[in-house]
Amino acid sequence: MPLKIYSTLTRKKDIFKPIKKSQVNLFVCGPTVYDYAHLGHAKTYVQFDFIVKYLRHKGFKVFYLQNITDIDDKIIKKANEEKKDWKEIVKKYREGYFEDMKNLGIDSVNKYANATDYMSEIISQVKRLMEKGIAYKISDGYYFDLTKFKEYGKLAKRKITEKDDAVSRIDENPEKRNSGDFCLWKFKKENEPFWKSELGEGRPGWHIEDTAITEKYFGSQYDVHGGGLDLIFPHHEAEIAQMESISGKKPLVRYWMHTGFLKINKTKMSKSLGNFSTIKEILKKYSPEIIRYVFASTHYRKPLDFSDKILENAKLSYERLKNICGEIEDDGKINEKYLSEFEKAMDDDFNFSNALQVLWKIVRDDKANGKYQTIKKIDEVFGLKLLEKEKIKISKEIQEIIKEREKARKNKDWKKADELREDLKNKGYSIDDTEHGTKIHLTK
Ligand code: AMP
Repeated sequence: MPLKIYSTLTRKKDIFKPIKKSQVNLFVCGPTVYDYAHLGHAKTYVQFDFIVKYLRHKGFKVFYLQNITDIDDKIIKKANEEKKDWKEIVKKYREGYFEDMKNLGIDSVNKYANATDYMSEIISQVKRLMEKGIAYKISDGYYFDLTKFKEYGKLAKRKITEKDDAVSRIDENPEKRNSGDFCLWKFKKENEPFWKSELGEGRPGWHIEDTAITEKYFGSQYDVHGGGLDLIFPHHEAEIAQMESISGKKPLVRYWMHTGFLKINKTKMSKSLGNFSTIKEILKKYSPEIIRYVFASTHYRKPLDFSDKILENAKLSYERLKNICGEIEDDGKINEKYLSEFEKAMDDDFNFSNALQVLWKIVRDDKANGKYQTIKKIDEVFGLKLLEKEKIKISKEIQEIIKEREKARKNKDWKKADELREDLKNKGYSIDDTEHGTKIHLTK
């Protein structure tokens, strides 16, 4: 069965056909590094990790590129507030981001490209837009003239902004020709970082960094572009306008994929609203696998109304699944029926939750063979470490309680055994009584 991907451009599930047969060039908008990443970012990046890993599972050779916005108004503002050099802010939060990605098990990205390492490519794009008469210069920088790109709005199916659009970066200047015109190159302002260039001293606008980076690695057309829904307009619309105007080739991207928001009380989690939990905070309470389990239970295009209850429920389900998987023996076989059920779910625009259900079906099927190797293959996509044995360091005190409880069970003193189980639970351990003896897990 062919893989189908829902593209925001066509508003339907299209059969996936990369430009070059088995090579996939895929770009996802990375973060602006002025603060620690939150759980909303985690949703987008974990779900793209699943997507890329599944494409590789299908045999595609994927080059996964992500940019890092390391110069931006938000970074400068933060540096001024904290009275620090902007480079210090960037260093701290970029490292923080990489640490979060590593901790979340996101290891599918081939290249993280810092915007400031691509100044000559950015400048070259602005120059080419000027030469074509599409960009113009006013007092504070160079802007893109939207009347020169008639198809503006073809991705979002609109030309005006709406609530939840990432709009903070449309620059305002009364000299602009059209109100939606966006800045390509901003002239130097006092106490702001700048780069020398033929365009004048300044720094890049936000939208141009992505097309400069993707043109460098992929050329003027590529396969997949991803990001959160908030980036469709104007950010991705602006990328299309820039690159399609420069190259004359259409479409810039074949499949535009957008993730639904992680929300808190029905409102998008965002730094500016202050309704966020950082990845670092959440990882203190829950393992990366539980967080991945939550995101594997939700379709990437759908929103996720987040709550502690969702994490608690995911924790229970995940631990139950992992415990069962831990008992499965490897017979060296693959269960083709379940593997193809998994692939069928994923081929349908990456239906993670249906694919996850296949794991449950496998473990509940007493007659199935090839369980271990099939789970292993599926888990290469989800990264839930289902077959990894837990290595828990158990202190002497805990070992004593377990021994005492086993003694109580032998003596059929169930009351005492239950009390000791409760004691272990309060100390952060849960136990399972199996035919092979007592199994212990961390609950904290
Ligand atoms: P930013 O650093 O705000 O530019 O965001 C980086 C990426 O995370 C973009 O693809 C955003 O769309 C995505 N993102 C930000 N907030 C959320 C959220 N609450 N839910 C899902 N994705 C988000």
